[in-house]
Amino acid sequence: MIFDNLLSRLDRVKPTGPNQWVACCPAHGSKGQKLSISEGDDGRILLKCWSHNCHPTEIVGSVGLTMPDLFPENIRYSNQKPLPKGQRFMPRTILTALYQEIMIVQICADTILKMGSLNPNAIKRLTVASQRILNAIEEVTYD
Ligand SMILES: [Zn+2]
Repeated sequence: MIFDNLLSRLDRVKPTGPNQWVACCPAHGSKGQKLSISEGDDGRILLKCWSHNCHPTEIVGSVGLTMPDLFPENIRYSNQKPLPKGQRFMPRTILTALYQEIMIVQICADTILKMGSLNPNAIKRLTVASQRILNAIEEVTYD
């Protein structure tokens, strides 16, 4: 999964709870386990460097990953129950989904600015984002 991909690249990884770890922050190269790694409500990886407050972009960049690698292929909406078949989504659900896909686009744009290119996974995720934005339009189309 996306966690394995990141954790396998970090030093002195230690679990601290369900989907929570500490490790050495690769961005500033100290030996202390000052980087906390956890799972956000939507399944993305959250990073916090308690020592130097390194930016997540620097942290993932220093282990050869990019920000889109922190996002799951299928972002989960954990606080929503599945709707009965044929029932439409709540408008807020659709707007929230749109916002998250727009964030992916924003992160990819930032990555291109900083790194000059996107890795194939990020490009794939961008394609998923544009498909989901299209799907959102279809959700609000009149019958
Ligand atoms: Zn750091």
